[in-house]
Amino acid sequence: MRALAIAAAVMGCITLAGAPVATVHAAESPSVLEGRLILLDPGHQLGNSNPRFAGKLGQTKFNGTTVKGCNTTGTATNAGYPEATFAWEVARVLRRMLEDEGARVALTRSSNSYDAWGPCVWDRAKQANRIGADAMISIHADGSSAGNRGFFVLVPGLVKGWTEDVVKPGRRLGTSMLRGLDSAGATPSNYIAGQTMVSTNTTGLNFSNVPTVTVELGNMRNRADARLMSTPEGRKAYARGLLEGLRDYFSRG
Ligand SMILES: [Zn+2]
Repeated sequence: MRALAIAAAVMGCITLAGAPVATVHAAESPSVLEGRLILLDPGHQLGNSNPRFAGKLGQTKFNGTTVKGCNTTGTATNAGYPEATFAWEVARVLRRMLEDEGARVALTRSSNSYDAWGPCVWDRAKQANRIGADAMISIHADGSSAGNRGFFVLVPGLVKGWTEDVVKPGRRLGTSMLRGLDSAGATPSNYIAGQTMVSTNTTGLNFSNVPTVTVELGNMRNRADARLMSTPEGRKAYARGLLEGLRDYFSRG
């Protein structure tokens, strides 16, 4: 199964409805992802915009530097394709790719539904800590002005008593994700210097005790990025970039 998936990726084949491409492939060495426990964190949840859950979303917590909220609705393309759905769909494609390489994968939410909310960002990070994930990847897209495009990462900055354990591995993981997305042909951000924001007030990063990064895959308000995000082929390309990033990270660690 792994050989088939890799062959399909190399050939740039699109498989319909998950049907594997039947390709003979030479023997290969085990993937660096074999046995790794990866927590994928698709940002937001569709129901975060459901007024029924306003009270839940209104919870706040101190994150080491700032008192912030549980979660937000996220952004959307101009055509109304929500970030929550984009993140969910990329995560599902990526999960399959990772499992094909022998990784164990957990998700921070089990649905993408207007009838569900959260979980809160601190609980997503606590899940990573509880299961002892080897890495946690938060998948997001930005809602910036129309001329801005491309991917960037948020990595944990130093917050005393909170992030000493994750600053270095988080920075390394962020660099690997940039390399992976670049190698998959995604467009680097034209508005974030070095495609890296060092953040001391991102709750999920601060609560995490495992290597973690937030990846903004593109700007949903940019026409070129939105077009890619809105197609299965585009989402598969983003997922492949994240897969390459994880391969890069674990091949160096
Ligand atoms: Zn987001």
